[in-house]
Amino acid sequence: MKHTDPRQLVVDLCRQFYFQGWCTGTGGGISVREGQHIFIAPSGVQKERIEPEDLFVIDLDGQIVEPPADPTLKISACTPLFLNAYRMRDAGAVLHSHSINVMLATLLCEDEFQVTHLEMQKGLRGVGYHDQVRVPVVENTAHECDLADRMAQAIADYPAADAVLVRRHGVYVWGRDWQSAKTQAECYDYLFQAAVRMRQLGIDPTRVPATKG
Ligand SMILES: [Zn+2]
Repeated sequence: MKHTDPRQLVVDLCRQFYFQGWCTGTGGGISVREGQHIFIAPSGVQKERIEPEDLFVIDLDGQIVEPPADPTLKISACTPLFLNAYRMRDAGAVLHSHSINVMLATLLCEDEFQVTHLEMQKGLRGVGYHDQVRVPVVENTAHECDLADRMAQAIADYPAADAVLVRRHGVYVWGRDWQSAKTQAECYDYLFQAAVRMRQLGIDPTRVPATKG
C-alpha cells in the first residue's frame, strides 16, 4: 500500500469517524504515529472540518514539535491517554471514540466487558472465534486528562486487549499501525453493539452457545 501522508490520514479518518457517530459534538479523537512523531487532532473542534495544517505534531514525551498554523487551537485533552498506548504498546495509531454503542456497552458490565463466539472478534489481535474477548472498563472522571493513570493500569492488567473502555464515556483503541487500529476499532464497535442488542433480546453475550459452532 502506498505511503499515506499522516496529516491527510488524520483528516480523512476524522471525517469518516464523524459520519459514523464516533466523534460528534467535538468529542473523540484520532492520532497517528510516524517514527518518533505523533500527529494529533486539536481539541474541541468540528472533527469533520479539520484541515491538515490544524494538527499538532508531538514527540513521545508529549512535547510539541510542530504547532498548528492557527495559534488559537488547543491540543487534544486525550493526549496523555494516547501517549499511554504509544509508550506501553508501541502503537502506530490510537483512536478515541464516543460511539453510542461503546457508551451503552459500558453500562452492561462491572470492571470488564466480555463477549464470545462472534465472527467479528476474529478481527482483533490474537483472538479466535472460541475465545472470550475481555476489555477492561475504567470509571470516568470529570476531566479527561485525569483518566491517564487508570488507563495505564488497565493496559498493564490486560496485555491481550488493545482497548480500554471508559464508563458512560467511550473507548480508546490502538493498533501497530493505523490500519490495524481502524480495523480493531471497527470490530470492537461491532462487538459492543452486538452485546447491547443481544442483552435486549435476552441473550447473554458472554455465554458459550449450546449449539455447535
Ligand atoms: Zn472522550
